[in-house]
Amino acid sequence: MSKWINKELFDEFQTEKIEEKDNSGVQRGQNLWPTPQKGSTENPKVYEGRFIPDPKGKFYKRYYYHMWQAGDESWIFILCPKTHDFKDYCPFCSVTSKLYAGGTSSDKAQAYQIKRKEKFVGNWYIVKDPRDEDKEPDSKMAGKVRLYEFPGKVEQKIKKEVTDKKEGYGVSIFDPGEEGRNFIIRVLATKKDDKGKSWPDYSNSSFARSHSALADDDDKIQAIMDTCTDIEEYIGNMGVSNNKMVEILKNEFLWDMVADEALKQGFEDSEPDKKPEPKAKKEEPKDEKVEEKTEEKTTEPEDEGPPWDEDEKTEEKEEVKEETTSGDDDDDALLAELEDL
Ligand SMILES: [Zn+2]
Repeated sequence: MSKWINKELFDEFQTEKIEEKDNSGVQRGQNLWPTPQKGSTENPKVYEGRFIPDPKGKFYKRYYYHMWQAGDESWIFILCPKTHDFKDYCPFCSVTSKLYAGGTSSDKAQAYQIKRKEKFVGNWYIVKDPRDEDKEPDSKMAGKVRLYEFPGKVEQKIKKEVTDKKEGYGVSIFDPGEEGRNFIIRVLATKKDDKGKSWPDYSNSSFARSHSALADDDDKIQAIMDTCTDIEEYIGNMGVSNNKMVEILKNEFLWDMVADEALKQGFEDSEPDKKPEPKAKKEEPKDEKVEEKTEEKTTEPEDEGPPWDEDEKTEEKEEVKEETTSGDDDDDALLAELEDL
């Protein structure tokens, strides 16, 4: 190696370049339709639109992710590697199982925060959005295509039409032409639970019985289709590198729990001796008071959250009991969980 080059800095630079994301694609959050808001227990907020295929003809996709608030209040988002293949190893899924199995109530509370969650994403042509009422004409959503990240409750409705070969609406639910059908999202609010919380309720949502084209001629429909986003690319761009995952695990004091197995799975501990900066929160003795506080979080997720994630709380809330007793990594448990959604 030349004396003019600092080898260590070059290696660092090389890693940085390898890790660097190709920013040409659509990033998470870009082109995203804001999560529909819930109405009251009696009067739903009503949205209407159509699911349409992406430029490669794909309809919609499921992805798994881990998202929680770190010690410093910032949100951590990790696309779960199981998104691509459920057999793939994910250190965060593994950490979740270990924390659940670990026993203490604060471990379980932490597992609840970190655990794998599920969403679906597809292209969505917006026909009606009640939030448009307060908007300037050029910022209205109606008439635009956005990505819609939707919860399992909505997917259930679509899946039913796709899988019921005899009675289902089949391909018409994705057709932008005159054979197509809109989806009408009706979001009610659930009655307040014992914690005084209310959740979005999608159960009254349905596909339109009538057919309609999104525009009155093929050129206009094509112009709409041309604004769709490649969903595989979108999901791919959410991914984080193995090294970044290791860094997060270390910062969250979870690395030691999975280090052995993660190393076997090809993860690298780039700086084995570097200990993360201790955080005040973690330094606190785990007396009863702290545990109580954490425990409370298990049943009552924070009000404050990223705006795109509001739906998730409903699912989390319903899943928590089941997940506390079953290993998160257990395929059968997950399948059962998916069936239940
Ligand atoms: Zn995972």
